[in-house]
Amino acid sequence: MAGDTIFGQMLRGEIPFDEVYSDERCLAFRDIQPQAPVHVLVIPRKPLDSLRAADSTDSELLGHLLLVAARVAKQEGLDDFRTVINSGLEAGQTVFHLHVHVIGGRPLAWPPG
Ligand code: 5GP
Repeated sequence: MAGDTIFGQMLRGEIPFDEVYSDERCLAFRDIQPQAPVHVLVIPRKPLDSLRAADSTDSELLGHLLLVAARVAKQEGLDDFRTVINSGLEAGQTVFHLHVHVIGGRPLAWPPG
C-alpha cells in the first residue's frame, strides 16, 4: 500500500511523534535517533517513496518542503544547518517515504560517509 511506512503511520496518527511543524502539505518531527542536537525530518503528506518518485507535478511541493526545512531550522535557533535527502538504499535511505533531514547545532563535517 502506498504510504505504508512508519512515516505513513505517523501521518495517519497511528503512532506518536514529537511534532515541530505541521500544515496541509507536510509534517515535521524530531528524528528518533538524532545525529546532532537538532535533527528534524520534514515529510510530505503525499506518499512519495523518495525524491526519485517525484515529477514536475511535485515542483511546488518540493519547494515547500525546503522552505519548511528553513523555517524549522530558524524555529530551532539555527543559523547554520544542513538539509539532506537520501534517495535509495546505497544512499542510506531506510524509510521509503520522502523526507528532508534538517541537521544542526554542532559543526558538521564534509563529505558525509
Ligand atoms: P533515512 O535513513 O531514510 O534517510 O532516514 C530515516 C530516518 O528516520 C532516520 O534518521 C531514523 O532515525 C528516522 N526514524 C526511523 N524510524 C523512526 C521513528 O519511528 N520515529 C522517528 N521520529 N524517526 C524515525
